[in-house]
Amino acid sequence: MHRVEALSTDYYVFPGATAWALRRYRDFALSPGRRPLYPQDAECPCRGCSFDDVRHARDVLDEVVRELPGGAREELRRRVAVLDAAYLRRTLPDPFADRRQWRPDRWWRRRLAGGRESPV
Ligand SMILES: [Zn+2]
Repeated sequence: MHRVEALSTDYYVFPGATAWALRRYRDFALSPGRRPLYPQDAECPCRGCSFDDVRHARDVLDEVVRELPGGAREELRRRVAVLDAAYLRRTLPDPFADRRQWRPDRWWRRRLAGGRESPV
């Protein structure tokens, strides 16, 4: 994983990015309560602030899973799959994702977004 991060040509994949993305995705998907959650846009496109948008964290995980070799890939894929299920439970489908979303081909970007991320 560290090797993939260090060698990646993707600006958003850097040493530590996978752990950060996992933490960010988990904290969002498994946040307390049962009310729907809404991802929100990051206000700054730099590699740090981009994690304000949980969908970006999922983008990074997707990228790393793609680049990892066999065993490590399976392990990360399993961990992400658990969070994916939680994310799907806590977010709502966006019927207008095709019009609204950058990369609507990514299912985690086809969820209703905006407003406050926290349901509190
Ligand atoms: Zn920034």
